Amino acid sequence: MSAFILEKMCRGCKRCVNTCPTQAISMFSQLAVVDPALCTECETCMEACMHGAITFRVTEEKKANG
Ligand code: SF4
Ligand code: SF4
Repeated sequence: MSAFILEKMCRGCKRCVNTCPTQAISMFSQLAVVDPALCTECETCMEACMHGAITFRVTEEKKANG
């Protein structure tokens, strides 16, 4: 599990980027993207996001893609 950004909910405010203690979140085309390799599942970003755009889920797709 790592933090996961719901693209349709993200408003590109960068609040999560600025609060992540491991710099696991980057902005791509006004959308936040989490690097699962850096995410420690601390949930800081989820609490910081005012738009409910961050959730946690099993990264099956990431595993499938290597
Ligand atoms: S805090 Fe939420 S809305 Fe703002 S960039 Fe991050 S995921 Fe998107
Ligand atoms: S859960 Fe923590 S480590 Fe993972 S992206 Fe959010 S703030 Fe960063």
